Amino acid sequence: MQTLVVLGSTGSIGCHTLDIFAQHPDAYSVFLLSAGANDERLLEQCRQFKPRYAFLENSEAAKRLRACLSKETLPTHVIESFSDYLALIQESEVDAVVSGIVGAAGLLPTLTAVQAGKKVLLANKESLVTAGELFMNEVARHGASLIPLDSEHNAIFQCLPFDEQDSLQLKSVDNIILTASGGPFRTWTTSQMQSVTPVEACRHPNWSMGRKISVDSASMMNKGLELIEAHWLFGLSEKQIDIVVHPQSIVHSLIQYRDGSTLAQLGNHDMRVPISYGLSWPKRISSGVSQLDLLKAKQLDFEAADYERFPCLRLARDACKAGGNAAAVLNAANEVAVDAFLNEQIGFMQIPEINEAVLASTPQATLASIEDVLETDKKARVKALAYINQGKG
Ligand code: NDP
Repeated sequence: MQTLVVLGSTGSIGCHTLDIFAQHPDAYSVFLLSAGANDERLLEQCRQFKPRYAFLENSEAAKRLRACLSKETLPTHVIESFSDYLALIQESEVDAVVSGIVGAAGLLPTLTAVQAGKKVLLANKESLVTAGELFMNEVARHGASLIPLDSEHNAIFQCLPFDEQDSLQLKSVDNIILTASGGPFRTWTTSQMQSVTPVEACRHPNWSMGRKISVDSASMMNKGLELIEAHWLFGLSEKQIDIVVHPQSIVHSLIQYRDGSTLAQLGNHDMRVPISYGLSWPKRISSGVSQLDLLKAKQLDFEAADYERFPCLRLARDACKAGGNAAAVLNAANEVAVDAFLNEQIGFMQIPEINEAVLASTPQATLASIEDVLETDKKARVKALAYINQGKG
């Protein structure tokens, strides 16, 4: 039996993970569940999975959860402090940590798991986008195992030979191809995209995901963040990572080997596939996902990615090339801009404008420590907010 921590258990990745636990009750025991403020969903999860500990970032929500758990005499202890929460992630009985928090908020808990040498199932791409080099150095230094859950990176991981999965050192790979669905506005013109609403942006054609990543998919920033994630995870240069639009989301990504072979992982678009692979690796377990029916799928289409209509993609590629603080700045500006779009403070096409303005006004710098990353993130957020407020005034 594996003992697990699920960070961000109330979100899309968290709920998909718990769905797999529910299908294999004898294989997994839950040590700690954490979330931001959704005490109602966390309470339901405590009832069903009886974790030893629970943590909510929001202290009012934590109080409500504590009261309900004690009323129902459930065994879960609600942790009070952030430092106790981080210490529990490092407990020796924890075998693996699922990193499903959204945004840069996931960095410290995920890094904490890495520093304890845990098996880390990484969905929180922002950890690698913001702190890539430092993060990967810590993975190596502490002997942690990193298994990507993002479906594209998980597909690449599945297409690697076993020893390269273990080391994440890709030896005979020329390049990789990340596929992108193209999102809900794949065929829209820039002027049509000016007036889209948050509901339209969150209506992804294939995947059901949290609101932030759904907006990122619509702007194609998600693919840009994935490019940066792949760069750090697999040690590939930006030039070795192609992006191809594949509207059916059946081919999840591909590796092109030196000898001219291209290997791909295919399947129905359901995050339980990559999550179950991460949980059971190197074995495979059932995930509850139906088999791909090629005759039903009929057709697989591929298109070039459009860096003009989707400027976030260009910004991310440039940030990956630039290195240093660029990706952390871009990520922070984007988190603030997406939040403002979801709150109807700015239009959809202002997201790339704000991202570009924050990047352009931030001098290039190296990130020598996690403190530098956090400081960079904070300053870029302040700048992005200032641009948003200027626009309103
Ligand atoms: P959701 O918005 O659905 O869930 C986010 C989770 O993070 C929730 O549990 C939320 O808690 C929690 N959270 C938010 N802020 C904090 C905080 N400060 N401290 C602790 N927990 C916090 O996001 P997704 O599940 O869609 O995405 C999670 C991550 O996985 C992202 O990095 C995304 O890019 C990546 N990913 C997601 C995929 C998907 O299919 N959803 C696919 C590939 C990658 P609460 O509910 O209380 O707000």
